[in-house]
Amino acid sequence: MTKGGMESVEVFTTEGKGRGLKAQKEFLPGDVIFAEPAYAAVVFDSLTHVICHTCFKRQERLHRCGQCKFAYYCDRTCQRAAWLNHKNECSAIKRHGKAPTENIRLAARILWKMEREGSGLSEGCLVSIEELQNHVESFGEDEKKELRADVESFLEFWPPHCQQFGMQLISHIFGVISCNGFTLSDQRGLQAVGVGIFPNLCQANHDCWPNCTVVFNNGKIELRALNKISPGDELTVSYVDFLSLSEERRKQLKKQYYFDCMCEHCKKQLKDDLMLAVKAGESKPSADMVKEVIQFSKDTLEKINEARMEGQYHEVVKLCRDCLKKQEPVLGDTNIYLLRILSIASEVLSYLQMFEEAADYAKRMVDGYLKIYHPNNAQLGMAVMRAGVTHWHAGLIEAGHGLICKAYAILLITHGPSHPITKDLEVMRVQTEMELRMFQQNEFMYYKMREAALKNQKIQVMPEPSNENAPSLFHKKE
Ligand SMILES: [Zn+2]
Ligand SMILES: [Zn+2]
Ligand SMILES: [Zn+2]
Repeated sequence: MTKGGMESVEVFTTEGKGRGLKAQKEFLPGDVIFAEPAYAAVVFDSLTHVICHTCFKRQERLHRCGQCKFAYYCDRTCQRAAWLNHKNECSAIKRHGKAPTENIRLAARILWKMEREGSGLSEGCLVSIEELQNHVESFGEDEKKELRADVESFLEFWPPHCQQFGMQLISHIFGVISCNGFTLSDQRGLQAVGVGIFPNLCQANHDCWPNCTVVFNNGKIELRALNKISPGDELTVSYVDFLSLSEERRKQLKKQYYFDCMCEHCKKQLKDDLMLAVKAGESKPSADMVKEVIQFSKDTLEKINEARMEGQYHEVVKLCRDCLKKQEPVLGDTNIYLLRILSIASEVLSYLQMFEEAADYAKRMVDGYLKIYHPNNAQLGMAVMRAGVTHWHAGLIEAGHGLICKAYAILLITHGPSHPITKDLEVMRVQTEMELRMFQQNEFMYYKMREAALKNQKIQVMPEPSNENAPSLFHKKE
């Protein structure tokens, strides 16, 4: 079996931590360490008719599989490419009368692939499906119940003429899906659309301050270097967003991934001081005052969630403004409660096309983020991009162009030049550069041209604000 492009990494075992991935050569920021196609992947139940089942792109018009009437594809090319993985599924769905849920479909795809290829290592995989971790023994009562229900539905769906696998292996597969299922996003990375299993990626351990990032690009995940990496260095990715206190991150990791994070940033609680910053200077607020404002912020965030769920965006704006008034005299510029409100306020105000106020909040948010995040963090890049677009829409061309350039530099590393979002940013960078030049020469002409440009605006980076967080790395229940 060849390593199929996996020569640059090696699996190693450490005591206590289990397996990990190690670099075999030097990498520079932005280098693709490896690109891995899914071992198996499926579209989420709610999106099966709007997302292509092969390339996971969102498309206006999709072709339906004439046989099962369940699968959808961009075109003949995607449909042909799908057939090897869809053939068994297609006839099983016809036989079963309807398609089962995403977890069952994914388990079945994994087992059909094992039936085709036999067990053991498959092409380009460093570990086999049997060797992946399942954490079933750490499952709570509810999770165990769900697992049993999934196995039962699976057995109803699995055709009798296919290879019959033991109960232990079937449970193992569902355990693997539950702790290693990787979230796939649409081509612009704005929405989670499916879940897949990537055996090599699963070997990378977590670090809250990782040296790698993962991005789904053109049907494959890419592991990309964020720093210079030397041969022998462990390769790490972060399973959670860094923008939480170390204690909150550790709690989330324990709950969703069953381990205690021992990374440098958690052990030393690095950056926690910034995330809890309080206004300095003469009018330093009292500890009670800080406590009160933080509690008020937490309550407001809950109210905002409810209002957002009901689409009451003007109410969200009001809640944000009131909260900011309370926070501003007390909390420091990098305090996460302040940053969370600023982020929501700028997002919702942009959606409501109140760009000037949105730009002001976005600027303060980005200034805070830049002090907290790793300089090559993908979430930081996306936030800077949104802030840039907001400034541009507000007619603040100089700041807008600056932010778009900054975002472009980050995304070149985290997403790479061929990713659709990076390409969008490149277009915006060229456009804003031209506008900036025009602005500097002739302000009147600039405003005329900007009006025309905004009318033809096709770049979609501002989806409706939703309560869904940005697609998280692994497909996990909250
Ligand atoms: Zn497609
Ligand atoms: Zn079909
Ligand atoms: Zn950590």
